[in-house]
Amino acid sequence: MLNPGSSFEEIPTVGPTMSQRLKNLGLKKIQDLLFYFPYRYDDFSQISKISDIKPGEVFTVQGKVQLIKSRRSWKRRKMTITESMIEDETGPIKVIWFNQPYLDKTLFPGDEIILSGKVKMDELTPEFISPSFEKVKKDQTHTGRIVPVYPLTAGLTQRQIRYYIKTALPLAQKIEETLPPEITKKYTLMALKKAIMQIHFPDTLEKAEKAVERFKFGELFLIQIQALQNKRYIKETKSPQIKINDKIIENFKNSLPFKLTKAQLNSADEILKDLIRGNPMNRLLEGDVGSGKTVVAVMAMLNVIKNNFQSAFMAPTEILARQHYEKINELTKGLDIKICLLTRSLIKLEKEEIGKKEILNKIKNGTINIIIGTHSIIQDAISFYNLGLVIVDEQHRFGVAQRKALRDKSSEKHQLAPHLLSMTATPIPRSLALTVYADLDLSIIDEMPKSRKKIITKVVISDERGKTYAFIHDQVISGRQIFVVCPLIEPSDKLGVKSVKQEYEKISKEVFPDFKVTMLHGKMKTKEKEKIMDQMKNNEINILVSTSVIEVGIDIPNATVMMIEGSERFGLAQLHQFRGRVGRSDKQSYCFLFTDSDSHNTKRRLKAMEKSQDGFKLAEFDLKMRGPGVLSGLHQSGLPDFKMATLTDVDIIKKAREAAKDLTENDPHLLKFPNLRQKVDNLYKDIHWE
Ligand code: ADP
Ligand code: MG
Repeated sequence: MLNPGSSFEEIPTVGPTMSQRLKNLGLKKIQDLLFYFPYRYDDFSQISKISDIKPGEVFTVQGKVQLIKSRRSWKRRKMTITESMIEDETGPIKVIWFNQPYLDKTLFPGDEIILSGKVKMDELTPEFISPSFEKVKKDQTHTGRIVPVYPLTAGLTQRQIRYYIKTALPLAQKIEETLPPEITKKYTLMALKKAIMQIHFPDTLEKAEKAVERFKFGELFLIQIQALQNKRYIKETKSPQIKINDKIIENFKNSLPFKLTKAQLNSADEILKDLIRGNPMNRLLEGDVGSGKTVVAVMAMLNVIKNNFQSAFMAPTEILARQHYEKINELTKGLDIKICLLTRSLIKLEKEEIGKKEILNKIKNGTINIIIGTHSIIQDAISFYNLGLVIVDEQHRFGVAQRKALRDKSSEKHQLAPHLLSMTATPIPRSLALTVYADLDLSIIDEMPKSRKKIITKVVISDERGKTYAFIHDQVISGRQIFVVCPLIEPSDKLGVKSVKQEYEKISKEVFPDFKVTMLHGKMKTKEKEKIMDQMKNNEINILVSTSVIEVGIDIPNATVMMIEGSERFGLAQLHQFRGRVGRSDKQSYCFLFTDSDSHNTKRRLKAMEKSQDGFKLAEFDLKMRGPGVLSGLHQSGLPDFKMATLTDVDIIKKAREAAKDLTENDPHLLKFPNLRQKVDNLYKDIHWE
C-alpha cells in the first residue's frame, strides 16, 4: 500500500532515473502526483463501428486483433514498422505503428483492444497510423474513455505519467477536505476527494470542468482570505508617520539630469501620502521596463530618512542588488546619506568592502540609512535600528506571516511595522488586480520618459541570419555591446547551462571569432557573475550570451542590440522585458527576434513585437493568442502566481471573494478551520523565505 509521503520508486516500474524525471516536473513525493493536473483531455469515450469511420477525423474503435507483425524498414534505417489488422463485427481496419518494436510482444491475435486516433486513407481503405491503444479492461486508462493529457518532460510519456497517477490515485481518499462544508454546499463545489479523481480520469467532460472549477475556487479562496487578513492586519497595525519634506523632494528633483514624467510624479505623490498615515502602506508600483520606478522609490526613501527612519531595498538577485546600490548612490550623490550593500557574497559601504560584523553593528545603531540587498536582508540575523520602509523590486508580495516577522525584527526601539512598497513591470490591469487583491493599493506609471528612442525590432528568419550578423558586426565595430539571450532547450536544463554553452560556442567560434564573447548562466558563482557584469559595464565584453538571468533590471547603457534565439519559446511580455535591456541611452537600439518556426501564429505573435513598444498591449495580445497561461507564467509579477486560476476567471474570483468575506467576518483567524488556516499560512512561505 502506497503512502502519501512515499518516494516514487515505490510505484512498480519506477526506478531512480524515472524518479529523477518526475522530480524535474517539480514533484517531490507520491502525493504530489495527485496534484499534477492535465492541461487538456482527449475524448475517446465514444466507440464507433469500424464500418462508420471516415478519414480525416479522430475515432475510437474496439475490436479483435486478427494479426500483428513487426518488421524493419529498408528505406528508413533502423525504423521498426508494426502492422496489424483489427476487426469488429462490421469489418476490419489496418493499423500501423512506427518504432514500437515491443508491440508484437504485448499484443497478440485474439486480444480485444480499443484504438483511438486520426484515421488516414490508404488508397481505398481507411487505416490508423500510430493510434493510442489499450487492451479492453474493466477500467480503461489510455483509450475508450476521456483521457487526460499532461505536461511532460524529456524521457516521460503520456502512458507512463497516466499510469503513475492512476497508481497513486487511491491516496486521494486520505486527503482531507480543505473547504468548509457550508461553502462547498453554497457554491455547489465538488468535494476534494472526488475532484482529485475527476480531474485526472473524468467520467464526463462536465465533471472534469466541475473539478477544475473546484481547484480554481480553492486557490482563489485562499488568496482572498489572505488578502482580507492582510487588510485587517494593516488596519490594526501602527506604522511610523512619515511627514512629507517638500524641500528634500524639490532638491532631489532639481538634481536629476531629466524631468520626471507626470506619471512618476503622481505615483510618488500617492506613495508619500500613504506614508503619512499611521498604518502600513501596502502599495504596488506598476510600470513598464524603463518607465523609471527606481527614482520614485528613491523619493520615498529620502523622505523616510529625513524623518529619521531607515529604508531597506530588496532586489531579486545579487546582481540587481548591486546595480541598484550603484544607481542609488549616484542618484543621491552629495546628500548626507549612508547606503550599504548587503548580499551573501559582497558587503559594501561608501563603495568600500566592509566586514559583516561591522555592517550589522552600523545597521543596528542607526548609522546606516538605506540597506540594499536580496530578500535575505530581512531574514538573516539583522537587527534594524528603526526600519520605516521596505521596497521590494520585481518580487512577490508579502503575506501576513512575512509582515509580522518583518515588524518583529524591524526595530530595536518600537513595535511599528514598516511600510511596504512593491514594484513590478508585469502589466496587470488595474480592475483585475484590485478585485483579486483586496488589500492592495496600486500606482501605475503609464508613460515613458520622453527622451526614449523607439527600439527598432525585427523578426529574423533563417535566410536573414547572415545579414543580421553583419549588422551586429558593424555595431560592435562602432563600439556598441550586444546581448544574446537563449531559451532553455529542455526542462531538465533548468539553469540553462547547456543552452548557453551551445550558443556561446557558436557565437564565439563560428560567427564572431574576433570579438570578446562571454557567457553568463544561472549556475555560475555570484562573484563570477558580478565580474562579468562589471566587465560588461566597463565595455570589456563585446557580446554577452546568457539565459534569462538578464531578464530584469540590468542596466548597460552602451548595449544597443538585444538578440534573442528561439524567440518563439518566450511569451511576448517576457520578450518585451528582454528588449527593455537595451535602449537605455540616446543611441539607437535594436532587438532581433530569431526564429526557425514556420507557424503562422508564431509569426503573428512575434510580428506584434515589431509594431508595439507597449508591454501592456503586448501582454494582452499574447493573452488572446496563447490563452491566459501566459500571464500566470510570469515570475516577477509582484503578485502571487496562480497555479490553476487565471485573471479571466472573473466569475469564480467573485464567488471566492464573497465566500472569503463571509467566512472571515465570523471567524477572522479561522479557528474553526485549522486545515484551512494551515493552508493560508503556507501560502506565501515557499515564495518568500526559501
Ligand atoms: P524601471 O522602471 O524599469 O525600473 P529604471 O528605474 O531603472 O526603470 O529607469 C530606467 C532609466 O531611466 C534609468 O537610467 C533612469 O535614471 C532613467 N529615468 C528615470 N526617469 C526618467 C525620466 N523621467 N526621464 C528620463 N530618464 C529617466
Ligand atoms: Mg527596475
